[in-house]
Amino acid sequence: MSGSKTNNKNKTREVSIPPNFIRQIINDDMKTGKFDGRVVTRFPPEPNGYLHIGHAKSICLNFGLSSEFNGICHLRFDDTNPEKEDVEYVESIKEDVRWLGFDWQEHLYYTSDYFERLYDYAVTLIKLGKAYVDSLTPDEIREYRGTLTEPGKNSPFRNRSIEENLNLFQKMKNGEMEEGACILRAKIDMAASNIIMRDPALYRILKQEHHRTHDAWCIYPMYDFAHCLSDSIEGITHSNCTLEFKNNRELYDWILNTLNVYHPQQIEFARLNLSYTVLSKRKLIELVDGNHVTGWDDPRMPTISGLRRRGYTPDAIRTFCERIGVAKRDSMVDIALLEHCIREGLNKKAQRVMGVLRPLRVVIENYPKGQSEILSAINNPEDKAMGTREIPFSRVLYIEQDDFMEDPPKKFFRLAPGREVRLRYAYFITCTDVIKDEQGKISELRCTYDPETKGGDAPDGRKVKSTLHWVSADHAIDAQVRLFENLFTMENPGAEDDFKTCINENSRKVLTGCKIEPELLNAAPGFRCQFERLGYFCVDRKDSTPGHLVFNRIVTLRDMWARIKKLQAQSKKSGKK
Ligand code: ATP
Ligand code: MG
Repeated sequence: MSGSKTNNKNKTREVSIPPNFIRQIINDDMKTGKFDGRVVTRFPPEPNGYLHIGHAKSICLNFGLSSEFNGICHLRFDDTNPEKEDVEYVESIKEDVRWLGFDWQEHLYYTSDYFERLYDYAVTLIKLGKAYVDSLTPDEIREYRGTLTEPGKNSPFRNRSIEENLNLFQKMKNGEMEEGACILRAKIDMAASNIIMRDPALYRILKQEHHRTHDAWCIYPMYDFAHCLSDSIEGITHSNCTLEFKNNRELYDWILNTLNVYHPQQIEFARLNLSYTVLSKRKLIELVDGNHVTGWDDPRMPTISGLRRRGYTPDAIRTFCERIGVAKRDSMVDIALLEHCIREGLNKKAQRVMGVLRPLRVVIENYPKGQSEILSAINNPEDKAMGTREIPFSRVLYIEQDDFMEDPPKKFFRLAPGREVRLRYAYFITCTDVIKDEQGKISELRCTYDPETKGGDAPDGRKVKSTLHWVSADHAIDAQVRLFENLFTMENPGAEDDFKTCINENSRKVLTGCKIEPELLNAAPGFRCQFERLGYFCVDRKDSTPGHLVFNRIVTLRDMWARIKKLQAQSKKSGKK
């Protein structure tokens, strides 16, 4: 995972690793010995929801950099807000990080493990005259804070004595005060141009059961207070966070400097934004709670568990995170790039099989009744080592409804009355008759086959314009197949007044009665393959059972990303002329 391996001429520019300014910072720190050659990073999720692909970027960055520099990466649960947190989330986060291929070894931490020490630090700040208990109401505190253009006002409680503050803070801790009655604030500067520095809250009263400390505490530290000190306690060197914390860095530094404790370096990078989806836990929770999706692991969700269920591989997600790079400015990444990464990986690895999603019955009239034969098919043309498999052929087959037109327009080269096409790995067939039901709907085709074309080639050299996938009716297994589109119709749903108004009503289609090659009879949950011409599919991990196979389409075969890149290259070229 080095940033300099771009000299291989055979690899296109796309495969090269984009620059990562944090890697550069660490490199420099290694040279100057700033942290004695140590690299300790952390991934600090709040256990208030499931991880999404944006978190994967942070995970790959933090675990990736630490391993690159022989350091360690901690997994720390930032569990300071008992109202929204839950063990279910803790467990899912651990599972997702492991699944992505990263190992925190023995370095699993919880901010709640530091509650006692954080409390002591707060007491120290009070003793230094750098923190006070404020009894203004929340509304008053807001009013006193001022605005971007106006300075704030000092609270009338700002000059309480150290004694009084210690006493009141003790009372807060002992549960002798009501929620909202007071908070502990840092005493910095109510006129600071950075509003975050206007006496920020450090502790609040919350009479809530915590999923780990239970009822031991009724005051909880605020993020800004807990985060820098947790980093300090753990000896973190590079504390990488997303850009929205840029203004918080001043407070991060102030707390550590004022307490005169070990001081990690906070570095901000751009969060991942992905087109046609939302990456905010709050919004994802809304989708789950509002039943807009079937759960956190709905295959349409940008969550790690959703992507896993859809059929994404950890490899593809890591490759994606590497390719998007790490920048200092926010941008929107095209979801086509994510799809490109999984397609590229599966193209090399996934077995090809044939499956018919919307079956149309075909009877080969000159093929003997009751007869069948075994044909040979290549498992993966990209990897000869994957060998071949046997596929049964017989008199009655299924092809895709889409692959036949009674009245074909000019550019339709697939099956039509009187026309000859190739059945993949089998024979040339010619359509001789179209059978319809009472409603006039096509129910069956009658065809003939040419026994001379076994394997898919005509000895006389005659050509056909298309090759169809098919399955043998007697041998095929039934399956349910779920097809997905983007969950949203707008490129940036987060920018809408209500992102839920642009949910794509067609984002999930369930097809039953699909016919699949018998090869997949025992396909296990999580098994991935390519259905020829249709895309990459994965056996659903939850709903698929041996007698009732369920497939999710991971992606289609059409590579929109390659197309976008090609167009970009063309326009660049023509621009240069
Ligand atoms: P959300 O905005 O989804 O609620 P969060 O920042 O509140 O996310 P945390 O659990 O606090 O979620 O995030 C853990 C880590 O993941 C943080 O360091 C955060 O900066 C990082 N992170 C969260 N979202 C993204 C993203 N879209 N891109 C990159 N990193 C992210
Ligand atoms: Mg957060």
